[in-house]
Amino acid sequence: MSAHLNKDSNSVINMDLLDNSKNRYSIKNKLFLGLSLIFTIFLGLTALTIFRLSEFENVLINIQQVSVPTAIQAGKTYSQVNTLIFLTERLINVQSGAAKRATNEQIQSLIYTLKSDSLQLSQQSYGNTQLKAIIVELQELDELINQRLENKRSFDEKLQLLYTLFNNMPDLDDIESRTSLVDGQLLITNIFANSAQLTFLNRLHLVRQIEHTLQKDLESLLSNYVEGSNTKASKEALVFLSKLQTLLLAPDGLVNTRIKQLRIEGRAIGRGNFMRNLIMDYANQAEYTSFNINNKVLDETKSATKAISTQLTVVVIAFILSLSLFVLIAVYLRNKVVGRLINLNKGVNRRLNGSLDDVIDKGSDEISDIADTFNIFANTVELQKQTLEELSSLDGLTGIANRRAFDDRLSNAIASSQRSKSPLSLLIIDVDYFKPYNDNYGHAKGDDCLKKVARIIDQELPRETDFVARYGGEEFACILPETDEAGAKVTAQKLITAVYSAMIPHSFSEIDDRLTISVGIVVDYFDTNKVITELDLITQADTALYQSKLKGRNRFTVSQGSTLKK
Ligand code: GH3
Ligand code: MG
Ligand code: MG
Repeated sequence: MSAHLNKDSNSVINMDLLDNSKNRYSIKNKLFLGLSLIFTIFLGLTALTIFRLSEFENVLINIQQVSVPTAIQAGKTYSQVNTLIFLTERLINVQSGAAKRATNEQIQSLIYTLKSDSLQLSQQSYGNTQLKAIIVELQELDELINQRLENKRSFDEKLQLLYTLFNNMPDLDDIESRTSLVDGQLLITNIFANSAQLTFLNRLHLVRQIEHTLQKDLESLLSNYVEGSNTKASKEALVFLSKLQTLLLAPDGLVNTRIKQLRIEGRAIGRGNFMRNLIMDYANQAEYTSFNINNKVLDETKSATKAISTQLTVVVIAFILSLSLFVLIAVYLRNKVVGRLINLNKGVNRRLNGSLDDVIDKGSDEISDIADTFNIFANTVELQKQTLEELSSLDGLTGIANRRAFDDRLSNAIASSQRSKSPLSLLIIDVDYFKPYNDNYGHAKGDDCLKKVARIIDQELPRETDFVARYGGEEFACILPETDEAGAKVTAQKLITAVYSAMIPHSFSEIDDRLTISVGIVVDYFDTNKVITELDLITQADTALYQSKLKGRNRFTVSQGSTLKK
């Protein structure tokens, strides 16, 4: 019996239960730790994944909203800039106000598009400054073109005047015939031819050469006609020649107009070149900006892709870690929890089947606490069972009276018989070869057998006053008041026959193939004054029983000793 067992078992149980509450390596704590770890891993993983995905999303948005549009815009800007260069070229060369206005309109609308596109393109203020410079330059170019057109108009006018003058030229032959210094007609023709050439000459030194020739020719002509100035014809010729000189060589004459025109054209070409460079600069700047933006996005894409691939590795590692933890928890539950619970159940079942061994669990957690508590409980129940049996007058196995009741009853029966001087018989019954029965059929079967024998004996004693008890082990005792030897013998035989007739198989008995009993009888008539004790009677009955055994069992023997026959 366990050390826990004592009379005040309830207080012991409470103390031990209190001990349980501070258990050391709790399953709850271990499972909590494991599951918390897995939960933390998953939580961390989810947070990291969300962070990475949002990073990647930003990169994609950048590509979609910045990179691709700037690349497209850069291409578009480049072609618009080429158109702008072409239009500027055309503006420089326009020959009429209408053509200039048309070209200007095209340029303005192109500039407007470029302006709004450059706003879209980026926050680059440099591009806008360049665009503003281009616009200012365009205005100045426009001014130059205005001057050029104005100059051209004035040149054309003067040329027209020259043609008119030429058509109304006076007859110079008459004068020539008198002078014959110079061939005036030829000179005049030269002057007109040279003047007409001015329209096509676009080199300043050539214009200067023409100017020089014209000066020389005009001077020769003038000196020619000054001599004959008295005549009307000479006068007309001189008026004509001075008109011609003014038209050609005055500061606002045809030659200087042409020179001015060439200068304006030169300035226009210079400004045009400057503008072309400015425009090309703008296009390059736009391309460079786009290149930089794309490079930046490309870098972000690279780093995001790298981060995602690292993330993948982290996910795989975390997954393997979590899986291993799950497996560990499963193995732990199988070995350390389920396995032990199965053992615990086996131990409890053993105790239920009568074993008095404590349920053993080597752990130091809730399960071992259950085992300890159960042991305390089972030991308490066992203790209470024994106490109850001790307090009871009934035999726990067979349900008939026990030894204690027998002792009381026998001493009462002796006293009563002594008083009434009536006979008293005592039968001690022993099951034959019960040890081999037990050894071969098992203790449980042995118990069943004892219950059967007890019931048979009880049934074969119909008298109210007859009393049967389990004397001990496989022995029974019957007290038969007011029964003489004859009656005792009849009763003993009835019992022997009844057990025999019950045909309880006993293959290990040496006298039969079924269970038998042997009986020892003692009869006391109490007709002397000799004091008879319980021990006397029991000893004599025992001796008689021994005789039955010696004689071959399955029989009764009446004690020959102290019993006094009538
Ligand atoms: P004999 O014919 O000489 O009486 O032989 P036996 O084998 O019956 O003799 P023994 O007294 O040596 O054996 C008695 C056996 O009864 C011993 C024990 O195994 C068995 N026994 C005693 N009490 C109980 C009990 O409460 N239950 C069971 N199953 N067996 C018991
Ligand atoms: Mg015996
Ligand atoms: Mg026996």
